[in-house]
Amino acid sequence: MKRVVILGGGSGGAVAASRLGKWARPGEFEVVLIDRSEWHEFRPSYLWVAVGKREPEEIRRPLAALERRYGTRVMRATVTGIRPETQTVETDQGNVEYDYLIVALGAELVQTPDVAGCEAPWELAPALALRERLRTFAGGRVVVGPLSWPYRCPPAPFEVAFMLKYLAEQRGVVERTHITVFHPWKDPMETFGPQMVEGFRRFLNDFGVHFERGFVYVRDDPGRRVIVAADGRELAYNFCHRGATSSEPRGDGDKELAIDNSGRLHGRSASLDAFTSVRDGVGNRRCGSPHDQARYGRCLCTLPSRACDRPDH
Ligand SMILES: Cc1cc2nc3c(=O)[nH]c(=O)nc-3n(C[C@H](O)[C@H](O)[C@H](O)COP(=O)(O)OP(=O)(O)OC[C@H]3O[C@@H](n4cnc5c(N)ncnc54)[C@H](O)[C@@H]3O)c2cc1C
Repeated sequence: MKRVVILGGGSGGAVAASRLGKWARPGEFEVVLIDRSEWHEFRPSYLWVAVGKREPEEIRRPLAALERRYGTRVMRATVTGIRPETQTVETDQGNVEYDYLIVALGAELVQTPDVAGCEAPWELAPALALRERLRTFAGGRVVVGPLSWPYRCPPAPFEVAFMLKYLAEQRGVVERTHITVFHPWKDPMETFGPQMVEGFRRFLNDFGVHFERGFVYVRDDPGRRVIVAADGRELAYNFCHRGATSSEPRGDGDKELAIDNSGRLHGRSASLDAFTSVRDGVGNRRCGSPHDQARYGRCLCTLPSRACDRPDH
């Protein structure tokens, strides 16, 4: 029996495991999913946790449920390397060999200096910390934005701003609440094309949220309660929310992952070659970007070019 190893039990990994469980013929594959956590977390709902609309147990499930439902073997371990030449994954619990590999390890959060009163709900623990702080939220000058680009979920800072506006309305403090989204982009959602820019401009306008464009964050000055941009601009705040992620290399296979000027992730790595072999072996995955040709003049999907079925790739 061929073995499919899935790295990561987030959205990508859990969906891959469930699809393989449903679609593979009995006895066709052994599926092993490796994650350092025992939980599958639905990250978009961290924001709902932060504003008290969801509890942690409502947004996560034990990965062990995949074993019961789909026969996936779930292994709790930290992946430390990928060796495509020997078709082996290295983990802190030992090596695992694969016939096909699916890499779905997500994006790692960069550790940023802690500034009291600036929690960013990009993980469950800081979402809960933000919830605590929001208990006494009484409006004022609010700044929301990322420390750098790229980060998990580009619209999230905007969503946070809109949620805080809603909270200010609920608490009757909207009149004295001024919310600003700061961002290195020139336009809101700039790398997602003109329709998204237009849509988010409208949202900002409707919610009465200011967009501070081209604001490349360099530091906090907690004593004065300001954040400072590379060009010297300063934004004062009573309430600050900032966070960022980057795609740090995970194991040798990921070293060639690169972000292009439009902010899209491209891969030329061994791990994506391995991904391609999964596609060839068990999936019928096709390029999912038919709209790119119309919008950008070429296909921008993240499949290696020889794996993409579009002539304009
Ligand atoms: C606040 C927030 C809001 C969001 N809102 C939306 C939204 O509205 N719509 C949307 O489409 N997307 C949204 N996203 C983005 C979405 O959550 C991600 O795109 C998605 O989770 C990516 O899935 P993934 O499987 O690639 O990675 P992840 O879901 O990050 O999963 C990665 C998994 O790999 C594991 N892992 C990582 N490194 C290792 C290692 N070395 N060893 C073992 N295990 C490891 C992790 O524990 C994790 O379980 C949001 C994200 C955040 C943070």
